Amino acid sequence: MKAGDYSEQINRANRAIASNAKSVIWKGYHDFQSLYMKGLLEGDKKLQLQALKGLIKASKALDIDATRYKNAIKALDTSEDIKEFENQNSFTAAPSESKSISKQSLNKSSKTVSKNRTISLKKTAVENSNLILTFNTTFSKKSIHKMVLKRRGHYLYVFDISPAKTYFSIKRIKGPTFKEIRIAQFDPKTVRVVIEVSRSYKPKWKIKGRRLFITLPKGTVKRHQKKDSVQKNVVSKTKNSTKKNSLNLSKYIVVIDPGHGGKDSGAVGYKKLEEKKVVLSVAKKVRNILKKRGFKVYLTRSRDKFVPLKKRTRFANLKDADFFISIHANAVAGRKNRYRSKGIETFFLSPARSDRAKRVAALENSADVSDLDRYTKETYLSVLNREKIIESNKLAIDLQKQILSSLRSKYRGVVDNGVREGPFWVLVGAQMPAVLIEIGYITHPTESKRLFNPYYQKLLAEGIANGIESYIRHNR
Ligand SMILES: [Zn+2]
Repeated sequence: MKAGDYSEQINRANRAIASNAKSVIWKGYHDFQSLYMKGLLEGDKKLQLQALKGLIKASKALDIDATRYKNAIKALDTSEDIKEFENQNSFTAAPSESKSISKQSLNKSSKTVSKNRTISLKKTAVENSNLILTFNTTFSKKSIHKMVLKRRGHYLYVFDISPAKTYFSIKRIKGPTFKEIRIAQFDPKTVRVVIEVSRSYKPKWKIKGRRLFITLPKGTVKRHQKKDSVQKNVVSKTKNSTKKNSLNLSKYIVVIDPGHGGKDSGAVGYKKLEEKKVVLSVAKKVRNILKKRGFKVYLTRSRDKFVPLKKRTRFANLKDADFFISIHANAVAGRKNRYRSKGIETFFLSPARSDRAKRVAALENSADVSDLDRYTKETYLSVLNREKIIESNKLAIDLQKQILSSLRSKYRGVVDNGVREGPFWVLVGAQMPAVLIEIGYITHPTESKRLFNPYYQKLLAEGIANGIESYIRHNR
């Protein structure tokens, strides 16, 4: 969606913050916050900029600190995304320091290209020193335009594919032999691939059916790989690749966060069973399984101890964790409701305020929300990072799927409450993909009995471990 679609909302918010009544200004302020969030989620930089400007104006009127928003604008202006991906005609970005050192266009006549039908990018993968882009249909080499840019001592190999579309806003892939690959819609007709490397190399590319192969810089050859040149026969090498064996899990750090603890027992369920106990035993089982598979694992608490919410993510940041997994159990109030609510759901942090998310969040946030100051609560939206939300969303999907499949292999009637988004304070501040799993309702007579059964806990833990592994396989 383009910023224009929000022009009415922006105008309304602007009128609100120009008001003399503080309550009206606050309303406009919150409207700009949610517009900023939409801008982040949709990768719409114009909307982000307009919302940030509104937030700064509103902050001035409300006499609150606007540093965060000013910094966000600065970050927006110098963002590489703008230079590489924003259509320069529709957005005035800071002058780019990029300098084209060579330009090699395979087809200079854009008219012939635009007559071609638009292809759609379906899948991207990195395998055996190749970037592989899979499209919905076949295409000709006339659709590919290549150029090289140099920026801050780095080489950017740019491949424009046109006419083409992609459904994701921006995809980033990091690798050992290159700094980063970025793939995004550059303008309405062009998908742009940028391979950023610190040393120059000669990327080769070829089209095979619906797939485009681009060679990546070669690093040290791994033991299980053949030593012949990747350029020689990219296709057959890809077919022979064994995805599973090449996964090195020892480089991943996972922080498991058993909810509550100590004076905070969490929810108290059927027969006075306590949430803090069941989540700790499941967390320990997850730790043991992940360790056996090679992961580095830390728990935010390994005994019945109170840990403030913000210390939990701070711990994960300190450990430089790749994943933050908070484990909780759900509860519902009222005796007559206890049979009605059961099942598993996985949450990721977002400003979503659906009734259901609000209810669960209220339950999990209640422990020590006083721990977070009012400022943090009001502006946490502004520090939410769009890519982190997307990654957390993907992690949540893999976890939910694997937990269900593990439990359903042995148990009947396991209910899938899906992946949801919500404002969970425990996830605020995590610098890595972060999710909160509600492993079931301890208020449900049958489910709570299962939750305290060691075998059921083991299946739960295996599902969580499988979910993390599955995410890594999908996104490495
Ligand atoms: Zn909880």
